[in-house]
Amino acid sequence: MGAEVAFVGRSNAGKSSAINAITQRNALARISKTPGRTRLLNFFELGTHQRIVDLPGYGYATGPESERVTWQPLIDALKPRASLRGLFMIVDSRRGLKEGDEALIHWAEPLPIHILLTKVDKLNRSEAGKVLRETRQIMGDRATVQLFSVLAKTGIEEAQKLLEAWLDDRVFAAPGAEGA
Ligand code: GDP
Repeated sequence: MGAEVAFVGRSNAGKSSAINAITQRNALARISKTPGRTRLLNFFELGTHQRIVDLPGYGYATGPESERVTWQPLIDALKPRASLRGLFMIVDSRRGLKEGDEALIHWAEPLPIHILLTKVDKLNRSEAGKVLRETRQIMGDRATVQLFSVLAKTGIEEAQKLLEAWLDDRVFAAPGAEGA
């Protein structure tokens, strides 16, 4: 069955750039895009039975109602995936969490969520500290949060390490299961 981590985020939040940066360096060499890519799910094979699932960006500057509509197919597509270990949520640090994000965070329970606050090169140090603090406060124990920038190479290693840990079957395999 293997293990996979889904990357989700609003369109233009920096998701593709984050996936490329995280997968193209050392430990997580990206092997290939699966040819049988579907409209909704785009798989990046990372290692034996380890995958990133790239979901299409969701509503940007749209009202709550249209967000609900764009969300549903993603949720339906992800729901049956028993190999899903958790979600990397890509959030533009200049915008922070928005209303529509809560629907997904709520749905994902009890899967872990890790938030990348992207493009922090666009913020000064105090602004970056503020959005990190505020996002952590909103999420409490529900998610871990980090600063991220492809341009400034901020937080790439931190994200890689967590991704590797989540994809490591030895951590999650039930006692007696293969690889335990
Ligand atoms: P996606 O729609 O979420 O996949 O977003 P993309 O990865 O395509 O990025 C959207 C835009 O943000 C592009 O113009 C990127 O060049 C820009 N971008 C992505 N990462 C960064 C970053 O770390 N810093 C800055 N300044 N721009 C970024």
